[in-house]
Amino acid sequence: MARIQQDELVFLPLGGSGEIGMNFNAYGYGPENDRQWIIVDCGVLFGREGNTPGVDLILPDIRYLMERRENVLGIIATHAHEDHIGAIAPLWPGLRCPIYATPFTARLIAGKLEEAGLTSRVKVQEVPVGGQITLGPFDLDFISITHSILEPNLLAIRTPLGVVAHTGDWKIDPDPLLGEATDAQALERLGNEGVLALVCDSTNALVPGSSGSEAEVRKNLTELVGTLKGRVAVTGFASNVARLDTVARAAKAHGRRIALVGRSMQKMVEAAKDTGYLKDFPPVLDETEAAELPPHKVLYLCTGSQGEPRAALARIAAGSHPNVELDEGDTVIFSSRVIPGNELAIAEIQNKLAARNIGILTVDEHHVHVSGHPCRDELAQMYRWIRPKLALPVHGEMRHQVAHAKLARELQVPQALVPENGQMFRLAPGRPALMDEVPAGRVHLDGRVLVAEGEGLAKDRRAMGFAGLLVIALVVDHKGRIAAPPTVLGEGMPEPVEEAVLKAVEDTLDKNKRSDPDELAENVRRAARRAAQEAWGKKPITRVLVTEL
Ligand SMILES: [Zn+2]
Ligand SMILES: [Zn+2]
Repeated sequence: MARIQQDELVFLPLGGSGEIGMNFNAYGYGPENDRQWIIVDCGVLFGREGNTPGVDLILPDIRYLMERRENVLGIIATHAHEDHIGAIAPLWPGLRCPIYATPFTARLIAGKLEEAGLTSRVKVQEVPVGGQITLGPFDLDFISITHSILEPNLLAIRTPLGVVAHTGDWKIDPDPLLGEATDAQALERLGNEGVLALVCDSTNALVPGSSGSEAEVRKNLTELVGTLKGRVAVTGFASNVARLDTVARAAKAHGRRIALVGRSMQKMVEAAKDTGYLKDFPPVLDETEAAELPPHKVLYLCTGSQGEPRAALARIAAGSHPNVELDEGDTVIFSSRVIPGNELAIAEIQNKLAARNIGILTVDEHHVHVSGHPCRDELAQMYRWIRPKLALPVHGEMRHQVAHAKLARELQVPQALVPENGQMFRLAPGRPALMDEVPAGRVHLDGRVLVAEGEGLAKDRRAMGFAGLLVIALVVDHKGRIAAPPTVLGEGMPEPVEEAVLKAVEDTLDKNKRSDPDELAENVRRAARRAAQEAWGKKPITRVLVTEL
């Protein structure tokens, strides 16, 4: 007789644990052989040129859910940051499920689906701010919180076996300036209901105190702009719409007109206006109009605060922007933090600005940026509201998650488990525990093709970047005798190396007058690499082509 399987509630992170970025979390409900799934967030990690040459986007490996896509009820996006929605368009064809989000987030996802040519296949289902949806056994409440973007949501996920609170990214901003404030009452009510698990942002779990408010940044930026004489350029994250509004108001307060430089700035302002925000955003000049104003009448809001080489600021700093020019006496304000990994790129831009006597103001000496993630006091407040039985710290590197779990225990949470991508946890019934591990990892969006990280394309390209590529062509007749002189072609290596390789190849051919073509190719390959190593101290990737007449 078949064993009757019992219903279980499970949690499965496939991205965002052990790394900041690429957030992807799934919840399953039902018996093991027929579990229904929802996906909360589906984000990317940006490739780094040195590590993953030629790869712009890194996505979670979600083949476990793709194999069960008939049982995937939907993707729910908590908010519109790329590390939460950036993988929806590239991964959707493998899932083909509905997508749910609040209006501003839905508008930005729809833009991405359009760029990917998917609009005719899937429409984003808009959920009102503070709204509710039901997907199979899951009842979801969208609870307004604050972050560094419009419409961040905490999801209260109710199931017949209990409630999970999934925070998404958040902070407690007492004055977020735009959009809803944290719905503390709803969070307290949720806590009173009894919550099984709190799945929570760990980004700032090592930072004491509180993250601060956008309102302080508004005050400081406005004062700072008032002290400046020449042209002013402010750079920051385009997705922080409240910050864009702040910069626009600071400009207006000091008689400056603004111009938006960089496509993502324009896109964000448009999306915010389309969904009912930024009602009194001042009229925006285009770049050529702004260039005609006297320096003290203009403020540029530009992309590129992380040193992105193709963004507006990099081109302005290099003096190669077609319409925006800064000179001695002008100032660039970095209203942003340095995302780890971007230090060198940002320094390069700041050096170029400094060399031209353009002023640089950053968060190091002026309070012109606040983090969007909860510091320790804010985490403590969230645990006081929700009072979960279990803490599941996500969205962080391991050191952040572990510190977060420790803090949760100090705050009297009975149990804290640090999840890794691919680990499946049973949340109910019974005491929560790790129950299984499923395939997980990273996938590269390499040009237009998805490639598993394990296939090693990026590794090959790194190797080619280090020591070039060597191609050797041989011609043999039907008896395996050499029928023409060999050709040696080296890409990305000094000429003497090529010459040394050619000599080694010729010597090898002399010793292998008649042999099996595969064996000959392997002997030549080894001899060529050895010769390169001797002449150069490096072994290039080497390919031998044998043509048989
Ligand atoms: Zn975020
Ligand atoms: Zn995030």
